[in-house]
Amino acid sequence: MQGEASILVTGGGGFLGSHLCERLLAEGHHVICVDNFFTGSRGNLTALLRHPRFEVMRHDVCLPLYVECDAIYNLACPASPVHYQRDPVQTVKTNVAGAINMLGLAKRVKARIFQASTSEVYGDPEQHPQTEAYWGHVNPIGARSCYDEGKRCAETLFFDYHRQHGVEVKVARIFNTYGPRMHPNDGRVVSSFIVQALTGQDITLFGDGSQTRSFCYVDDLIEGFLRLMNSDAGLSGPVNLGNPEEFTIAELARMVVEMTGSRSRLVFRPLPQDDPRQRRPDISLARKALGWQPTVPLREGLARTIAHFDALLSRGEGGIDP
Ligand code: NAD
Ligand code: UDP
Ligand code: UDP
Repeated sequence: MQGEASILVTGGGGFLGSHLCERLLAEGHHVICVDNFFTGSRGNLTALLRHPRFEVMRHDVCLPLYVECDAIYNLACPASPVHYQRDPVQTVKTNVAGAINMLGLAKRVKARIFQASTSEVYGDPEQHPQTEAYWGHVNPIGARSCYDEGKRCAETLFFDYHRQHGVEVKVARIFNTYGPRMHPNDGRVVSSFIVQALTGQDITLFGDGSQTRSFCYVDDLIEGFLRLMNSDAGLSGPVNLGNPEEFTIAELARMVVEMTGSRSRLVFRPLPQDDPRQRRPDISLARKALGWQPTVPLREGLARTIAHFDALLSRGEGGIDP
């Protein structure tokens, strides 16, 4: 969005949302952050709370919301398996009822609306790497389904509001992203390995560690959000955003141990149900349509993330429950 605008960010108190709010303020916009603080925290917003163009509303997106704004980023949803599986029904409601409310709002105020979708819409993919044209391989009734199917239904709603009501929608399929302000105890692999390494606990590899993921540094991802929102690309279909460099989980574990100088041992634990074997985005569309690609290599992003967790743990804040 060019010039000064009023932008609503749902889930703005979370990991990605707080980085997005920061970036939008830096671009000169007014930011209304809406969050029920289920997984997010006011601590993520400490630096922003005194900003004159920043406003926070404690609100659950499952309930209607009447505000005026020029654009909406819909990020509200717990993102890590331990969080979204804690109350699976609420996860579905957030994805579906939350999307309906934010789309209704976008329709009323004629705002463009961005949806934080996910690579999980591809499930345990049978096509590698995943392009936007791939329809996915998702278990509709498993432990991850509240998230995967909830996000799939949200995508359906976004494109139906576009076709039926002419709402301008942007849907980003986000692949694994990491960086400062990830929750230290959310069970996600990067935060878990770093905290385990820094505190000398065993590094828990699920399965044999040969499954792969591709990790995008948060600043790169937020740049992708803005480019997608501010372009005319992606009005008729989703766009993958992620880092196409693929690593096995065992490689990631060894890198974290080496970079932290930790004496932690690698231990193996059972693989969770429906854990995807491989995941890597095909970002040809984002490259072509947005001129976007990640610029921060894994080692550099990990160094910044390790520094963040190191500071957090030395302040005694790393042990909080998820
Ligand atoms: P997060 O848990 O840190 O942030 C989510 C935020 O949404 C939290 O602040 C939480 O309190 C808030 N929230 C949850 N339910 C809500 C509700 N009903 N009403 C209002 N607020 C609510 O997670 P994140 O990593 O920042 O993820 C943000 C978005 O990006 C999510 O939609 C997630 O599905 C998506 N995403 C993230 C990743 C990733 O790797 N981090 C990957 C794919 C997709
Ligand atoms: N809605 C909202 N804020 C608004 C406008 C709508 O929260 O500014 C909610 C409203 O409660 C409704 C949903 O969005 O349930 C969908 O709105 P839409 O106009 O599409 O449907 P309708 O109101 O006709 O059910
Ligand atoms: N994982 C692991 N040890 C952990 C946490 C996760 O080996 O302590 C594995 C997990 O089984 C998965 C990968 O790391 O194969 C990524 O997990 P995460 O929950 O971060 O993301 P997602 O599975 O949603 O991609």
